[in-house]
Amino acid sequence: MLHALAKCLHHSGILRLSRFWPNRHFFVLNFHRVTDAPSSFHDGLIEVSPRDFQAHLEWIGRRAEFVSECQVRNLARGGKPKILLTFDDGYHDSHDVIMPILERLGIPGIFFVTPGMLDNRILGPWDRIAFLVKKFTGKSFRFRGREFSLAQGARSVYLALGQWSLSGLPDRSEEFVSELATTLGVELPTVKQMSAELLTWDQVRRLRDRGFRIGGHGFSHHMLSTLTLDQQAEEIFQSKARLNQEGFKPVSFAFPFGSPETYSWETREAALAAGFEYVFSFSGIVPTIRRLDPTHIDRVAFKSSLAKYNLLLSLPRAHNLLQRIRDRRGYL
Ligand SMILES: [Zn+2]
Repeated sequence: MLHALAKCLHHSGILRLSRFWPNRHFFVLNFHRVTDAPSSFHDGLIEVSPRDFQAHLEWIGRRAEFVSECQVRNLARGGKPKILLTFDDGYHDSHDVIMPILERLGIPGIFFVTPGMLDNRILGPWDRIAFLVKKFTGKSFRFRGREFSLAQGARSVYLALGQWSLSGLPDRSEEFVSELATTLGVELPTVKQMSAELLTWDQVRRLRDRGFRIGGHGFSHHMLSTLTLDQQAEEIFQSKARLNQEGFKPVSFAFPFGSPETYSWETREAALAAGFEYVFSFSGIVPTIRRLDPTHIDRVAFKSSLAKYNLLLSLPRAHNLLQRIRDRRGYL
C-alpha cells in the first residue's frame, strides 16, 4: 500500500513542491550488495541491480547533494538535501560493481568492513544459513523443535532461521549453523566459496586509494549487545587495530546490525574510546542537521524505487513517523 501511495505521489509531481521548503535533514543511506549475479547465499542483501543503482543515483544527484565523510561536521542547512552513502560488510561487489559506478558519477562513500571476516574468508551466519537452506532438496524439516516448510520458497525459511540464530551469544550462532547443516544433511560452504563473495585487503586498499573512506564494523560482526562491556570494547578496539595494521586510518564506526537493540550507550562510548569520531547506527530514522550528533548518526535502508526515494527526500518527517510506528509494532 505504501508503495502504491509513493508511486502515485511520485507520478503526480506534487512532491516537487517540497523543493520550496528549506532542507533540514541529513540522509545517510545504507547498502550491502549491488549485483545481477545469482547468489548461493542471502539474496536479501542483494538490494538493487547495478543498472537500477546507477539510475537511482543519477536521479538523486539531480535532486540532492552527495556529501563525504569529512563534510559531516559542517553540513549546510538549506539548499538541496544532503546525502551520504554507506556500504556494509565488505562484499566483493563493493569493489567490482559499486566503486566503478560511484567513480563514474563522482559520488563519495564509506565502506564499513569487518576485518575478522576478511582475514578468515568466512561469511556471517546469515549467509551460511541461507546457503544451507537453498541447497536443501526436501520440502520441510524439523529443527530444534520447530517445523519449517519450503512451500513458500527458501527465503522466508532462511530469514526466520537467520533471525533466530542471532538471538544468543556469537558462539551459539556457530553451533546453530553446524547443527542446521547436520539436520539438513547439507555440506557447509567451503572457504573458497565464501572467499569469492568477499573483498580482499588489496581491494579494500584500492577503494581507499580511489578516495573512498574505510570504516570499522566490529572485528567479527558479532551483535555487540550480546557481549559483556569488556568484550564489546575488545571487538571494537580490535577492528580499529587490525584496520590500522593494514594501513587504514578509520574515523567512522557502524554498529554491526545497528538497530537499537543491538548496541547501548556504553557501546558507543567504547567506539569513541577506541578512537572513532563518527558512529553510525541503523534505526531507519532521518536526523535533522541541526540536531545531528556525529557520535550517533542514524542510517536509512536503501529504497527499491525512485518513487520511494522521492517520498523519503520530500517528506522525511512522514518517513520518520511511519518508521516509529513500525518500530512500535516490532516490525524491525
Ligand atoms: Zn553488517
